[in-house]
Amino acid sequence: MMHYVCKYTPVELFAGFGEKYTVLDDMPDNFDLSDRIAHPNLCGFGKSVIQSALSKGIDKLVLVNCCDTMRRVYDIIKDSGTCSFLYMIDLPHKCGYCQKEAFTESLLHLKSAYEKYTGKQFDRNAFKSAFPPLQRVSGPYVGILGARVGREIEAMIKKSIPFPVRNLTCIGNRSLSMDINALENVPDEKQLFMIYADALLSQLPCRRMNDSTARRCLYADPNLRGVIYHTIKFCDYYGFEYSEIKDKLTVPILKLETDYTRQSEGQLQTRIEAFSETLSGLENKKAKKRSSIKEHFVAGIDSGSASTDIVIMDQNKNIVASVITPTGGSAQSSAGKSLDEALHKAGIDRSSISRIVTTGYGRSYISGSDESITEITCHAKGAHYLNPAVRTVIDIGGQDSKVIRIDETGAVRNFVMNDKCAAGTGRFLEMMARALGLSLEEMSTLGLNWKEDIIITSMCTVFAESEVVSLVAQNKAVPDIIHGLNNSVAAKVSTLVNRLGLKEDFMMTGGVAKNTGVVHAIEDKLGIKLYICKEAQLCGALGAALFALE
Ligand code: SF4
Ligand code: SF4
Repeated sequence: MMHYVCKYTPVELFAGFGEKYTVLDDMPDNFDLSDRIAHPNLCGFGKSVIQSALSKGIDKLVLVNCCDTMRRVYDIIKDSGTCSFLYMIDLPHKCGYCQKEAFTESLLHLKSAYEKYTGKQFDRNAFKSAFPPLQRVSGPYVGILGARVGREIEAMIKKSIPFPVRNLTCIGNRSLSMDINALENVPDEKQLFMIYADALLSQLPCRRMNDSTARRCLYADPNLRGVIYHTIKFCDYYGFEYSEIKDKLTVPILKLETDYTRQSEGQLQTRIEAFSETLSGLENKKAKKRSSIKEHFVAGIDSGSASTDIVIMDQNKNIVASVITPTGGSAQSSAGKSLDEALHKAGIDRSSISRIVTTGYGRSYISGSDESITEITCHAKGAHYLNPAVRTVIDIGGQDSKVIRIDETGAVRNFVMNDKCAAGTGRFLEMMARALGLSLEEMSTLGLNWKEDIIITSMCTVFAESEVVSLVAQNKAVPDIIHGLNNSVAAKVSTLVNRLGLKEDFMMTGGVAKNTGVVHAIEDKLGIKLYICKEAQLCGALGAALFALE
């Protein structure tokens, strides 16, 4: 089986030798084999090719000299000696006449190399019948753009998005415009390969081509309903394209950055689902389906990594009971116990609850609920209920931070999240409190009486902890250290807020909203006033309860 990675690969040529081919697009769990021999700054996709070649024992692989990464990948795999046929195609950067001639020579060279390798003869008929018919796609769709996505992420997107999804990245939009019948009358092999080279190079250009202006049609398509733009760390081609298009697009866009591994699947799933909820206009659709039962109660359960929050609401949107408990080891049992406690507080039994909606990281693990909705959509809904003037919600939870832009109806218009690192989250503050031997409550106000402006230089939780230990050893005052930590959280959150742009009114939700020191630090850093209310930590559960009512 021949493996390939790029849409410019002449796979039909291999069919001419009776060879089967498949695209190499699986995302590994980690890069343990690749990291032993490759430079750490290779992009994740390059590492994944090395990892697959070494771990799966890929025997035949054809690469394209797309970028420096692929040149390194070729050298490393060649050195490892795992492939019996390894070939790098020389792809031009333009598609003018001279470049087509040069590319024809490259294709003929590859053909000779493969002839020599297999000892087989090239069969024109098998070559011709390998060309897939051109597919005409019509109707609304969501496009995956940017750097290639692995098949796991593509499947996740297709499962979550309420429109047909078209993968328009490096491999997904391989489309050759060839008149196969015209090939019948081409006796000369060079001429045949010239036509083939022309078809390969005339595809919609990728960002690696010198002139990629034709890519504008990808964004101007009236059927396009939304864009999921994928970037890979260290890949400049698509990082630059994202910066160019993000403010020009008229449809919603979600940026997903991955390292091309399956790590952080849960967080990616949440982002994709929240984007999907935005696209489907979930809030408005559901508003039309209000329950006809006159007297009833609903429950919203926010199952977070640190706490499980419950809100019970009556049919008039009054909060009748709420509970916040530590999540512990099991989302399911914590939700069950907390719901019992909330029912007890409300003085009602389980049969009075007509509908339950779950949200938060553990939302899918709670059985017995009627629906689960992402915390992004629920926080937006809850924030709008608590203060309809809010347009920017800053939610710092146990393991992530989010900034959500909402409209006048409480619907999500855009959002950004921190990456998988814990910097700037509740977990960061929890670990720092532990390092200082303080409770979170003590941490929240102690830093307000600071005198020396200490700067915590490391954003990384592990390094910041060592920094705190060393500051304690230097006899630095604890309030000054806490003030430095609060500023460090504020810096991380401010970066997210600035990515969305400052839009009043601002509200802070999640457990960290109770931390006065962090709230002041964010206000100072951004020069804004944050709306904080006593229900701030319940915002997600509140939104879930409101969806349950609707
Ligand atoms: S960027 Fe272009 S040349 Fe590189 S792999 Fe993608 S399609 Fe191929
Ligand atoms: S993802 Fe970007 S950097 Fe990596 S191989 Fe592809 S084009 Fe090169």
